Amino acid sequence: MILILEADLGEQSPIFQQLLTHLRGFSGIHFRVHQEQGAEQVLSEIYLIGDTKPLRIEDMEALPGVERAVRVSREYRLLGRHTGDQRTHGFDYNGVRFSQDNLNVFAGLCAVDTPEHVEQMLRALQENGQVCTRMGAYKPRTSPYAFQGHGKDCLPWVFELAGKYDMRVIAMEILHESHMDEIREALEKTGHPTGVMLQIGTRNTQNFELLKAVGRQQELPVLLKRGFGITLEESLNAAEYLASEGNTKVVFGLRGMKTNLGDPHRNFVDFAQVPVVKRLTRMPVCIDPSHSVGSRDAGPDGIMDVFHVTAQGVVAGANMILVDFHPDPATALVDGPQALLLKELPWFLEDVRLARETYEERKLLATAQTPI
Ligand code: PEP
Ligand code: MN
Repeated sequence: MILILEADLGEQSPIFQQLLTHLRGFSGIHFRVHQEQGAEQVLSEIYLIGDTKPLRIEDMEALPGVERAVRVSREYRLLGRHTGDQRTHGFDYNGVRFSQDNLNVFAGLCAVDTPEHVEQMLRALQENGQVCTRMGAYKPRTSPYAFQGHGKDCLPWVFELAGKYDMRVIAMEILHESHMDEIREALEKTGHPTGVMLQIGTRNTQNFELLKAVGRQQELPVLLKRGFGITLEESLNAAEYLASEGNTKVVFGLRGMKTNLGDPHRNFVDFAQVPVVKRLTRMPVCIDPSHSVGSRDAGPDGIMDVFHVTAQGVVAGANMILVDFHPDPATALVDGPQALLLKELPWFLEDVRLARETYEERKLLATAQTPI
């Protein structure tokens, strides 16, 4: 069961303390306090763990300081959407809002290569009104002999350039706990010119120790990509690992499934599951059309498959798009064949805008059908 407390109820306040004393009196139940600093207020929740069946919702809601009580189902206790649970979930990070109600585009390099390419990319983003990007410094590669990313050496100049072009958030994959520390250190040393969303890639979705380590810090939000060869339920449970350790600033990423049935796409595109994830959980949902499709192939209509699947995901309500661009894909060190060109950025963004507008209209249409 989750007790949602009145806004701005500080842990030191007499009401809060009175509530904790009361909860300590329940036998067979222990609890955990979770506090989150929102844009305007501190939100506190208390998770009751153990045999909470005998507790009545009405009684819990009558306790001092408790605004609402929610009985959670077994699955995805913290990030899940439970019966009668109207809580919205979302978070602000470095001036950017992440929620199930809005949309952010993270276009950028799959892998950081040269300062010139990073700068060209960032300049194009700024010229097109973008404040988020993707930049890979640590790359998980199939072959140990393939380029592994520039790692921590590139972080200072990447962050400084990001600051120069007003990027608020960079999605950056980490493969090991130490990478998170390197990123936090480099942000600190460069004076936080930008923010970082830690990305946990599909190969690490079930790296539980990494999830726990990332979950233990609340400073940096996380983009968790679904595992490409496991069930959706398993991937959602992986997200729950992050939350159970304390970090609920989690975006869930769909990036396609590894199956030859997906041919000729690199992965079987799974964006039909955008509404499923939004229904089962309160996480914002990201789509990654580049790693799903894996090429620049276009249909006879002249529209690239990457554009088509992006539109499909956005029309279905996606909240974030992670997409590969490169100033010179022929020289890209990773995933050049799927990268879009900088001159295609305005086209891509306009296509996204059209799809989002359609989604908003579809939502209105659905609302109009609801019986009064
Ligand atoms: C990436 O986004 O660069 C990446 C490697 O993605 P995934 O983990 O989905 O393969
Ligand atoms: Mn890639």
